[in-house]
Amino acid sequence: MMRELTPTLAFFSFWLGACIASFLNVVIWRVPRGESIVSPPSHCPKCGAAIRWWQNIPILSWLALRGKCSSCRAPISPRYIFVEALGGALFLAAFLQLWMPHAPLWAASLHLLVMWTWIALMIIGSFIDYDLQLLPDFVTIGGMVLGLAEAAVFSVAGKTFAPAAWSVSGLAFGFGLMWLVRWLGSKAFKREAMGMGDVLLMGAVGALFGPVAVLATVMLSSVAGSIVGLGMILASKVKLGRFVAIPYGPYICLGCLAWMFFGQELVTWYLGLFK
Ligand SMILES: [Zn+2]
Repeated sequence: MMRELTPTLAFFSFWLGACIASFLNVVIWRVPRGESIVSPPSHCPKCGAAIRWWQNIPILSWLALRGKCSSCRAPISPRYIFVEALGGALFLAAFLQLWMPHAPLWAASLHLLVMWTWIALMIIGSFIDYDLQLLPDFVTIGGMVLGLAEAAVFSVAGKTFAPAAWSVSGLAFGFGLMWLVRWLGSKAFKREAMGMGDVLLMGAVGALFGPVAVLATVMLSSVAGSIVGLGMILASKVKLGRFVAIPYGPYICLGCLAWMFFGQELVTWYLGLFK
């Protein structure tokens, strides 16, 4: 059965992603500060004015208010609209990628739901890590549980151990590889070179996508990290030879996203290099 890819469903995916990302903005701000994510309701951090429902519409409200609080005109960070647009775009991309193939409806739906959840967790993890150099356990361990649970369902439904074995070996490989890198780094630099959160995050990538994805994510994230690092050196924001802690989580997530959406093309291109 071929499912239809209607513009309505595509729009719904984008809008759902934007609405969830709007909530993720709250999570990114409040969770590391130990605040509740439900109360008090959203308010301007400057003047305390309550944000009304029509001022809380993803993307559109920020544009309508031109990035300013409606009562005190304090600027609202462009990150809010960026995260909302990012959430919308990634939810849409996952829908476009996963809705067409000839999998049974329940399996396609379950996988899409798992991917949407993982995208939301990666957005939270990336921005909290960028701000504070920490990755919450509910992102990293949550990703592992998500990957293992999906693999278990597909193993039971398909009466084969393959998905579960792929997920468990991916988790062990991702966690083990990064744990080794972390251990070697701490020997070489005589200090903690990488957080435990990064180790757990790579375990989650492995649990969700398997061992090959771990290798690809390690390579892609170090390329992305080097490009940004080089850019920072060129912009002379970072002095050479100084030890700077850069959050690695956002790069792991970038690498994982590249694998999710361009994995097949990347493998073909990479193997083509050895011809
Ligand atoms: Zn205000």
